[in-house]
Amino acid sequence: MLLDEVLATLTSQLDDQAELGVKIKQQTEVPSEGPIDKGLWFYMQNVTAVFVDLKGSTELSAYRSPKPSAFAYTYFVRAMVVIFERFGSKYVDIQGDGVFGLFSGPQSEFYAVASAITARTQIERDIDARFEKDTSSEWKMTAGIGIDRGPLLVRRLGLRGTKQNEVWAGKPVNMAAKLSSVACSNQVVVSERVFSQFRKASPIRRRALLWGCGCCKEIQGDGLGITIGETKCLWTKEPAPAEMGLDFDQLYRLKSKWCCVHGAELCETIVTGCRPEA
Ligand SMILES: [Zn+2]
Repeated sequence: MLLDEVLATLTSQLDDQAELGVKIKQQTEVPSEGPIDKGLWFYMQNVTAVFVDLKGSTELSAYRSPKPSAFAYTYFVRAMVVIFERFGSKYVDIQGDGVFGLFSGPQSEFYAVASAITARTQIERDIDARFEKDTSSEWKMTAGIGIDRGPLLVRRLGLRGTKQNEVWAGKPVNMAAKLSSVACSNQVVVSERVFSQFRKASPIRRRALLWGCGCCKEIQGDGLGITIGETKCLWTKEPAPAEMGLDFDQLYRLKSKWCCVHGAELCETIVTGCRPEA
């Protein structure tokens, strides 16, 4: 009988696993592949996860032809993979309607946020326009982006003879995914612990990331900005929604994109911590 077979296989697999036990090895960098050795997991203390969630996929699937969907996912995934990899993400994967990138190392949150602002800017500026032109579809491509950081465990898992997949256990990917759903179209939302890293950055980096270049009048003028010192911050602070199961009290929302004039300079300053040479 099928159920008896399933239960017998399950018991024998769990017995095997119990005998093997688990070994946890500390790593500083996110590996491109999780370990596959018996029972071995990698543990990383501080990983920054950026989750980019494609919005409106339900409306997309309402089209009679499957072509717009196929185009949208192809452009979206390709673009996100290029952006994450160019910003030094060590691991990029797809989960549902989203693509996430993992960043490690001491400055990982700055590379992560720069990749997020780039993703958000490019979707609005170029990728959506290409999609509309190439498919003659009226659906608008937008994304919500979430960022969190914290410890992660990884290994490759799967039953013998089946495909092996990375399993990432820990909060950052889940929390970043939840924050991406809190984000409105083309917004970046970060957890309190990510924002506190921004606050601790060097003055030049902090200025670029929190205040930008001052050209973004539509953001400066919305009256919702929190104020740090004399200048209005580009990020707005709000309480984390209680029903989302987030494990922090505040989140920070960024509506602005890279400035057409100063974007490249701001991006360089945020990732390197130095003002680019003229
Ligand atoms: Zn500017």
